[in-house]
Amino acid sequence: MENLAQVQRIVIKIGTSTLTHNTGHLNLRRIETLVKIVSDFKNAGRQVILVSSGAVSAGIARLGADHRPRTPEEKQAMAAVGQSDLMAMYERFFSTYGHTVGQILMTRDVVDDPARLSAIRNTFESLLALGCVPIVNENDSVSIEELKFGGNDTLSAYVALICRADLLINLSDVDGFYDRDPRKFSDARLIPIVDSVTDALIAAAGGAGTERGTGGMATKLKAARIVTEAGIPMYILNGADPTVLYALMDGEPIGTFFRAH
Ligand code: GLU
Repeated sequence: MENLAQVQRIVIKIGTSTLTHNTGHLNLRRIETLVKIVSDFKNAGRQVILVSSGAVSAGIARLGADHRPRTPEEKQAMAAVGQSDLMAMYERFFSTYGHTVGQILMTRDVVDDPARLSAIRNTFESLLALGCVPIVNENDSVSIEELKFGGNDTLSAYVALICRADLLINLSDVDGFYDRDPRKFSDARLIPIVDSVTDALIAAAGGAGTERGTGGMATKLKAARIVTEAGIPMYILNGADPTVLYALMDGEPIGTFFRAH
């Protein structure tokens, strides 16, 4: 496995099912633990960019809605409510630990247009130079189908590329990549290292994730392919206990490591 001592710039993607309880409300203990660890990484001289989902779910919870969004408009409205709720929470926790956040909401056209790509790269660099923690999400409230990344697994891969990160960590609700779906097969085995993400591997990974999150294993593998082909390694770890981030940096063999090419 990789020696992570030299890793300077890390993108951490955290999914909805990790950020929220089964009720859909924010899991404050988990978010605070994550924020404390990210703050500690910063104190140790590392730079961290968070790619956080949870806007739609937080919006549903804040509005007290008894249903998932029924129309795209309703989803976009719920995301508008939830995104500010989410940022308020991050802002509060990060300032407790002495750090400042900056929100970046992206749509796909940003990475397709060279001028806008260069602008957003400069924004990330400036935020990091100013010592901030950029917190990124898809701009769900203005995004239309053609402008979507197709989930934050993919978005996090592009953010890692844009920021020229040293490492992408995908915090999921499973321990890593298994040879079979661990929710269906009790004898599924965790694969600790993936040298190359092939089409066959992606096809074997199957469908969507949980009810609240959108990403399944296939989108995570595609994200791994995007970054590893650009020379950036990636981990999938279980975010249920965010202290796994310390364990990882301490060199413990956890999760699944995707080797960079
Ligand atoms: N951007 C969506 C949200 O904040 C999540 C997308 C995803 O989970 O991949 O709710």
